[in-house]
Amino acid sequence: MTPKTAVVTGASSGIGAATARALAEAGFDVVIGARRVGKLSEVAEPIGARVLPLDVTDPDSVTAFCEAIPACAVLVNNAGGAMGLAPIRSTAEADWLWMYETNVLGTLRVTQGLLPKLEASGDGLIIMIGSVAGFEVYPGGAGYHAAKFGVRAMTRTLRLELNGLPIRITELDPGMVKTPFSEVRFQGDIERAAKVYAGVDALTADDIAECVRWVATLPSHVNIDEMTIRPRDQAAAHVLHRRAI
Ligand code: NAP
Repeated sequence: MTPKTAVVTGASSGIGAATARALAEAGFDVVIGARRVGKLSEVAEPIGARVLPLDVTDPDSVTAFCEAIPACAVLVNNAGGAMGLAPIRSTAEADWLWMYETNVLGTLRVTQGLLPKLEASGDGLIIMIGSVAGFEVYPGGAGYHAAKFGVRAMTRTLRLELNGLPIRITELDPGMVKTPFSEVRFQGDIERAAKVYAGVDALTADDIAECVRWVATLPSHVNIDEMTIRPRDQAAAHVLHRRAI
């Protein structure tokens, strides 16, 4: 049987890279995209994935990416992240634009570009990497919440619009996962990023990849609508059990 193609956005790092590895191991032909092509190649080499440059904030880049993919059965919309943690009174509009462009419009563009191929596959699946920040809030998180609430709205709407088509859609909402996410949020401030995870037994990117693999290998009639995964130490987005270190 010809292997199905799985496309993972934002696979140069963290959850996306781990997901690419898990889907390759599960037998998918994997195509990965992100801006840092060198990092993508490091992920792709051991698993035989195909690398394509992708900037989800650039419509022309998304068009070229989608056109270069002949078939697609699984799309993991993972590219995204947070920028800044300032309260609303002083938050920078540029950070909100970055988060909205990357998480919401980026996901919209890639989804629109690949929907015809997902339908043509006869058994398509879209997995949205949302976040617990898409339904819970914490101080300083408003811009990221607005974006991930937006991803959630898009997912719920698509679930209705796709009903009757051979395409499943899943929102996968991780809590705290130890990845370069916080380094990006704090623009390379490694010490500040490390404090986010200090004393917490956080999830790993592989934990989330395993959830994606499970969702993607269920029988076609089974649609996991939503899945929330948190570390045992995290009872809510901002309620963490921290051990002394
Ligand atoms: P990460 O290691 O920083 O990975 C983010 C990925 O997104 C990178 O591969 C990055 O690649 C890609 N990306 C960013 N902007 C992009 C753009 N304009 N075009 C294409 N790709 C872009 O962080 P992560 O934790 O794995 O995050 C993955 C997803 O999980 C994000 O949507 C994030 O919001 C979500 N999430 C993370 C956590 C957490 O605690 N870590 C929790 C819940 C949800 P390039 O820089 O090479 O483009």
